[in-house]
Amino acid sequence: MDLLTPASIRALLSEHHLDAKRSLGQNFLADPNTARRIANLAAVEPGDDVLEIGPGLGSLTLALLERGARVRALELDAKLATVLAEVVGDDAAVDVRVGDALRVPLAELLARDVDRDVDGEDVPDKSAAPGRASWTCVSNLPYNVAVPVVIRLLEEACEVERIVVLVQREVGERMAASPGDDQYGAVSVKVAYYSEASLLGVVPPTVFLPRPKVDSVLVGLVRRAAPPVEVPSTDDLFGLVRSGFGQRRKMLRRSLAPVLGDRTVDVLERAGVAPTARAETLGLDEWAAVARSAAVAA
Ligand code: SAM
Repeated sequence: MDLLTPASIRALLSEHHLDAKRSLGQNFLADPNTARRIANLAAVEPGDDVLEIGPGLGSLTLALLERGARVRALELDAKLATVLAEVVGDDAAVDVRVGDALRVPLAELLARDVDRDVDGEDVPDKSAAPGRASWTCVSNLPYNVAVPVVIRLLEEACEVERIVVLVQREVGERMAASPGDDQYGAVSVKVAYYSEASLLGVVPPTVFLPRPKVDSVLVGLVRRAAPPVEVPSTDDLFGLVRSGFGQRRKMLRRSLAPVLGDRTVDVLERAGVAPTARAETLGLDEWAAVARSAAVAA
């Protein structure tokens, strides 16, 4: 299978009178080795169900198909989706959908295929394994929506058990950061609640067309079977985390006051957290302890 190169990407864009749209983060992967490396790092096996967000012209889609995956590809740009359908031809293993990854109903997007029999009755896909569907998301994400797309998948699509995404370096480092790391923030805590994240490698701007200004990284997230901490509610936990990192240079006794009011110091002390500590020093365990303490004191 011929994967896309700078020459074939230029030819496809010119044939269809298209330009890469910066507003949609259209930096196309123009290096077959990198596309294969991503599919390989994602450990995609024949028959795996893979969700690809933002397939563009198909650089990664073709590498996933080459490994025998069944790919459901969601593209916001309807014109690109038409070109993609042409690039993948009549390969039954790929299902191209047009939609916005921030809005499309995920249950519908990840529903098992349903074939229609001759009488028009629905017949569930016979190749589908019984029980719960399991998906891997493998994507070169548009830079401007990478974080909300990943968080949406973690929060709302428990069928997506593994995520391997190419994102801007700073964004990837934030997703995988721990307390003490420069990029550690509210997103890192949320990602850690739902998954185990790791950086899988750096990808230079030279492999994209057009070239972005910054490096990209590959991030791998493996969904946890269960959250590693107990909290009264995720809304309470993430509300505290947001407030803490909203003023990350301030001590918690100040930065959490908008949520906890005059109980702030008591709540922190009962949780075993110094009121003079800052948000960037607290790990998930400590954030959970604060959330539990706040619930007791409420
Ligand atoms: N996967 C292709 C590749 O590796 O060459 C394209 C990657 S490009 C960085 C991001 C793609 O995401 C573009 O095709 C863009 O049109 C699409 N996109 C942007 N916003 C989107 C959204 N909200 N939902 C789905 N696709 C989106």
